Amino acid sequence: MNSVILRELCNGCGVCAKTCSEVFMMDLQGKAIVKVTTVLQDVEKKCLEAANQCPTKAIEVYRKGKRI
Ligand code: SF4
Repeated sequence: MNSVILRELCNGCGVCAKTCSEVFMMDLQGKAIVKVTTVLQDVEKKCLEAANQCPTKAIEVYRKGKRI
């Protein structure tokens, strides 16, 4: 599984980084970035939770190239 941030939609709220710090962090511009190329299986649930909680739907999650 992997994740992508649609940077133009990110409002910098930080919810993703708080919910799943294994995958997301805030950069110096105050926007979220994905810090791993592959989301490890044991943090997939947290990653999906973060994506679902994003208020602007800026987080996309893919499994084997398909959006989930
Ligand atoms: S939860 Fe969404 S809007 Fe908030 S920092 Fe993360 S990507 Fe940006």
